[in-house]
Amino acid sequence: MTSDGRSPDQRIPVYRPDLSGNERRYVLECIDTTWISSIGSFIQRFEESVARETGAPHAVAVCNGTVALHLALHCLGVGPGDEVIVPTFTYISSVNTIAQTKATPVFAESLADDWNLDIGDVERRITPRTKAIMAVHLYGAPCAMPVLMEIAKRRGLFVIEDCAEALGSRIAGRHVGTFGDAGTFSFFGNKTVTTGEGGMVIATDDALAARLRLVKGQGQSLTRRYWHETLGFNYRMTNIEAAIGLAQMERLADIAARKATIAQAYRTLLADLPVTFQRLDAGTQSSHWLVSLLLPPGADRAAVMTQMSNSGIETRPVFFCAHEMPMYDTGQRFPVAQDIAARGISLPSYPALTADDVQRVCGALTEALAAVTA
Ligand SMILES: *Cc1c(COP(=O)(O)O)cnc(C)c1O
Repeated sequence: MTSDGRSPDQRIPVYRPDLSGNERRYVLECIDTTWISSIGSFIQRFEESVARETGAPHAVAVCNGTVALHLALHCLGVGPGDEVIVPTFTYISSVNTIAQTKATPVFAESLADDWNLDIGDVERRITPRTKAIMAVHLYGAPCAMPVLMEIAKRRGLFVIEDCAEALGSRIAGRHVGTFGDAGTFSFFGNKTVTTGEGGMVIATDDALAARLRLVKGQGQSLTRRYWHETLGFNYRMTNIEAAIGLAQMERLADIAARKATIAQAYRTLLADLPVTFQRLDAGTQSSHWLVSLLLPPGADRAAVMTQMSNSGIETRPVFFCAHEMPMYDTGQRFPVAQDIAARGISLPSYPALTADDVQRVCGALTEALAAVTA
């Protein structure tokens, strides 16, 4: 038995939410009061807690992280004829939501060390049609926002920050999502804070925030029922989801501290292996969403993952590049992004992971690498 009472042969998943705080109590409160739909006190309390944590003046809850991106793009006026620059190495939502506005996603290369946007490449891809840049803070490492914002301001472009993996990520103390025009979060089950399904848009501008609220609720006038001022969507979050989210936010400091400890333990225990961790710049803080690393060039990733699975350890490959998906494939090449996509894996990274678990994962990775490179 391990110190937490689980048998050593128990499988270690990549992620498992920790719902050990007020989650149950708040959900029962929704049921007992019958406020289970998208009206109820938890929505506002959850929005306020995210606004407080990020330092954003406005936070608007929505039903997932994908529609958060779509709502932000739509409300910034991104649409047909526009181009939006986005990293090809990202989760597919960052790209699909651009296409859903009928704008054209323009892919950009990634940096080899922190896996985020190569800002020099972004600048080369700006055309007269470029309307916005989507920055993604992958796996929690902040994209270099100060440099990106300088370019965006000079060229008159909007910036949307996809912070789905970056709740708790900061640059010189400032939370990601507050540099650009809008920042978005996901509260899917494997995200740092979860509501099951859920999302949030944060914004500084009062007029943009008002528009986000209007459009997420079918464009219905906030003062006149069934009067729809503009094309809208039903992107509302439920009070039950917000109840879980509020309870999660109450423990965010603990969750973040656990995840930082786990990430540091991996880096220390695997220091002698020929693997490469995502670079974290001095002065930045990562959410350490999923601890991810690159296997050595030529190592058979599928074989490593299978062998680890046989030792009871679940891992994930990192994302495929979006420019290789059938609906976006125009034969472009992005050598750096493709190399990261081919070699990256994510390790178990959930807050309840014990020191023994981390040791077990590291032992299994060491053995698997030795076996496939022998
Ligand atoms: C999780 C994620 C999303 C989408 O969030 P959902 O809540 O699953 O819709 C968007 N972008 C990135 C980078 C993500 O990791």
